[in-house]
Amino acid sequence: MKPRHRDTGAGRPPSCPYCLRPSRFLASSAPLYHGHDYGPVYVCEPCGAWVGCHRGTERPLGRLANAELRRAKVQAHDAFDRVWRSGDDHPRARGEAYRRLAELLGIEPSQCHIGMMDVEDCRRVVEACTREALTPRPPGRRE
Ligand SMILES: [Zn+2]
Repeated sequence: MKPRHRDTGAGRPPSCPYCLRPSRFLASSAPLYHGHDYGPVYVCEPCGAWVGCHRGTERPLGRLANAELRRAKVQAHDAFDRVWRSGDDHPRARGEAYRRLAELLGIEPSQCHIGMMDVEDCRRVVEACTREALTPRPPGRRE
């Protein structure tokens, strides 16, 4: 399928946090995900940055993320998931791990979402999950 962009009428596209230019709306994210369409996205091609939309809308989920930030988020999620998945009681463990993480980062639990973090926050998550030994076993990778 060919990527199409169009005027959304749903407000102006968010500006790219890296170059500060307005992003471009794509009705399909298939070109970004090897043919898998995860819904509409806002992209900044020069920066290789994009952000998805809330399901069924053309409202961006947050800020545009470039390759570095996307990688950082994956690493933060990996590190964090190891924490709560290592518990016996998963659903509870996840909530508690998030609370603990928010404490370690010094932010409100309600603001503690890896999806909303920048590269620096993501690094702190990885560091906290390792250094504070929230996991019974440290991750195999060392910095
Ligand atoms: Zn840009």
